[in-house]
Amino acid sequence: MEKFDVIVVGGGPAGLSAAISAAKAGVRTCVIERGDYPGTKNIMGGVLYTKSTEAVVPEFWREAPLERPVIEQRYGILSGDEIVSMAYRDPSWDQPPYNAHTVLRVKFDRWLAQQAEKAGALIITETVVEDLLYDGDEVIGVHTGRSEGDLGAKVVILAEGVNNFIAQKAGLAKPLKAENVAVAVKEIISLPTEKIEDRFCLEPGQGATIELFGDSTQGMVGTAFIYTNKDSLSIGVGALIKPLISAKWTPNDLLDALKAKPYVKRLLQGGEIKEYLAHMIPEGGYNAIPKLYRQGVMVVGDTAMFVNGLHREGSNLAMTSGKIAGEVAAQAIKIGDVSERSLNHYDDRVRDSFIIKDLHKYRKTGEFLESNPHLFKVYPEIASKAMKKFFTADETPKKEVQKQIMKMAFEKRSKRELLGDIFSAWRAFK
Ligand SMILES: Cc1cc2nc3c(=O)[nH]c(=O)nc-3n(C[C@H](O)[C@H](O)[C@H](O)COP(=O)(O)OP(=O)(O)OC[C@H]3O[C@@H](n4cnc5c(N)ncnc54)[C@H](O)[C@@H]3O)c2cc1C
Repeated sequence: MEKFDVIVVGGGPAGLSAAISAAKAGVRTCVIERGDYPGTKNIMGGVLYTKSTEAVVPEFWREAPLERPVIEQRYGILSGDEIVSMAYRDPSWDQPPYNAHTVLRVKFDRWLAQQAEKAGALIITETVVEDLLYDGDEVIGVHTGRSEGDLGAKVVILAEGVNNFIAQKAGLAKPLKAENVAVAVKEIISLPTEKIEDRFCLEPGQGATIELFGDSTQGMVGTAFIYTNKDSLSIGVGALIKPLISAKWTPNDLLDALKAKPYVKRLLQGGEIKEYLAHMIPEGGYNAIPKLYRQGVMVVGDTAMFVNGLHREGSNLAMTSGKIAGEVAAQAIKIGDVSERSLNHYDDRVRDSFIIKDLHKYRKTGEFLESNPHLFKVYPEIASKAMKKFFTADETPKKEVQKQIMKMAFEKRSKRELLGDIFSAWRAFK
């Protein structure tokens, strides 16, 4: 049986970051990826954040296959054919140090895998890890679907993404619950570069993102997105599985309805669908984080439920947790102690980072949003109607306009309900 120091299961951002940091620290590292190459199976919106990426590959922007630096982030609330929106734009975000870039994972993950190889890691593709190998209670490697495919390792890092089968078998993660998982679909729509820049008011090369709430998910907990690539747009929508099942909507129906909205239709006009993709997103947050380690094993990225859906962050949590796990694995191997006590450093460092701090801050939001489904339906309607009244110049005195807005809002939500919502929201987001 061939033996490595570290085996990483999964070649997504979490696994590849783990491999880069372990290999850079000088330990024999191998990544096992089931796809033809890293990236073939992977999907995200996809906004890639600079800070976490740079910590793994310094100055990655010089050679990574990036689409556009994001200089504008727009939020919109859809209600019927109407939209209430706000945006923040900083043109300096098209220069180093960038804040974020749009990427296509099929290109980016492949490039990140090359960085892992440059650091000294071996990437084995088209191979599925089926289980861990044990000697008694001790993890000593992985069992793959290939004949004679068992590989030895002192530490295994599980970066298998949202489908946490191996982590479950290892007694770390639990089976996913419908209320903890969103399902999302995405299309890549090709469009000439100059059309993208005109429609989004961008200088050549700059990028923008739009997040859409409310009717984009037919009032279910979830969001839609439109991101600019070099010569395509990424458009997608995702919602929690539980309300989707209750409402008998499929994510594809949501995407069709979204694309028919006048605001969206105009942005996509003349585009041609190049790719259609679907994937799950772990949205369980802090309360669904599994045990992160045991003797010889650590879980990272989506497998560890490290997604901050509210801020559209997942890749950065994946990369940072992967990097920490790689470093802890290398250190444990060097001191010859891969026991649970030694790998506990991974848990300590993740808890000390923005990952657990942010997920802990929003630990109550999932339950709050789920138990208040009206938030994604009633408030978009109120916001839209209020804005319409505010902007309509029909000679109604402004004091009267204000009264009408208040009356309309209280018809939809009583004063008591409104105060209740504000208080619950404050408790959930504080
Ligand atoms: C529609 C959508 C939009 C998103 N948008 C954004 C965004 O804009 N910005 C952002 O930061 N995050 C976004 N996310 C979240 C982000 O994509 C994830 O958090 C991130 O990809 C997690 O990385 P990972 O390496 O943990 O898992 P993954 O990227 O899922 O990688 C897991 C890898 O493991 C491999 N694998 C799985 N099981 C096995 C096995 N048994 N053997 C071998 N290989 C295996 C898979 O093939 C895959 O390559 C989005 C997610 C979705 C679905």
